[in-house]
Amino acid sequence: MPVRETRINLLDLDENRLQEFFESIGEKSFRAHQVMKWIYHQGVTDFNQMTNLGLSLRQSLHQIAEIQPPQILSTQTSVDGTRKWLMGFGGGNAVETVFIPEPNRGTLCISSQVGCALNCSFCSTGAQGFSRNLSASEIIGQVWQAAQALGHERNGQRRITNVVLMGMGEPLLNFDAVVSALSLMRHDLGFGFAAKRVTLSTAGMVPGIYRLRDTIDVALAVSLHAPEDELRETLVPLNRKYPIRELMQSCADYVSDKHKRTVTFEYTLIDGVNDHPDHARKLVKLLRRLPSKLNLIPFNPFPGTGYRCSPEPRIRAFQEIVMKGGLIATVRKTRGDDIDAACGQLVGKVLDRTRRSERIREQMTGA
Ligand code: SAH
Repeated sequence: MPVRETRINLLDLDENRLQEFFESIGEKSFRAHQVMKWIYHQGVTDFNQMTNLGLSLRQSLHQIAEIQPPQILSTQTSVDGTRKWLMGFGGGNAVETVFIPEPNRGTLCISSQVGCALNCSFCSTGAQGFSRNLSASEIIGQVWQAAQALGHERNGQRRITNVVLMGMGEPLLNFDAVVSALSLMRHDLGFGFAAKRVTLSTAGMVPGIYRLRDTIDVALAVSLHAPEDELRETLVPLNRKYPIRELMQSCADYVSDKHKRTVTFEYTLIDGVNDHPDHARKLVKLLRRLPSKLNLIPFNPFPGTGYRCSPEPRIRAFQEIVMKGGLIATVRKTRGDDIDAACGQLVGKVLDRTRRSERIREQMTGA
């Protein structure tokens, strides 16, 4: 009997790879579809329960494969219904996954890396450093676990209607694993989410934006936070490598694909830093020709930060200027405050984060 570590985790395989896997063990490729339905529609991880597979296939799957989602280490529920899980992957690494219920939808916010190498100055994940990329199984496994934990509404509707990659990590620096997981979210035999209901958020990895456009249909969000390079560099160091002009070009290219109609820009409002009326006017100039939406996020403080949230009247004034300028702009409601589940507050557990993190940051970003 092979040792456990050598078993292949089927959550790591998107449809094509699962078909290849079955062909490699002398089975017909349609087995991939049967198994996907068991895993993602029925929530079954035990091969014994996959009754349409035949005893000998089930036995050989037991020997060579497993369906191993992350482990839920803890669950917290906010007074507003927001739920946060700490999901562990062994070896001391863990990330946070958040579910945000609203009257007409339920958004699941998932992570793509343990920690993050980009070091954005206003984000607590950045302050923790980077440990490692998540595998495809660890990314799709967060959706699988949350779907199991949440169950269905009384009317049989799924509670998760949208997934956003806005948790820990920079998804475009973990491209292959993220795309495999995205394709399982989109596939009818996976979770079956429509393209507009799966959003990848990036701090502005320009080459990754071009690559994503040609790889899979999902919605794109870009964390902008400043309308000019000098200021953006202080908030998002990656801007030194990919300045705003190049970033905007990649976004224009993204929406030129007929399946990708719009880009959402995220803009965290920080008191006295990026919330002046001039910033709002510059933002209008920058975005007005691009099919886009602007998501204004009140800054969420975390221990040790020197930043504060912009006062409410300044947030409203900012929104008014950009809307008068013709942009579509919403202010994101802060949710799950009492359980530290808001944007930029996710921590998880990051081990080995100092030297390695520095090295990887240099390699990946040149920043
Ligand atoms: N690396 C990706 C995915 C992380 S998304 C990205 O940068 O887009 C996390 C979102 O929350 C980003 O828009 C980020 O800018 C925002 N954010 C991070 N820290 C925050 C904080 N302290 N307050 C409010 N928003 C924050």
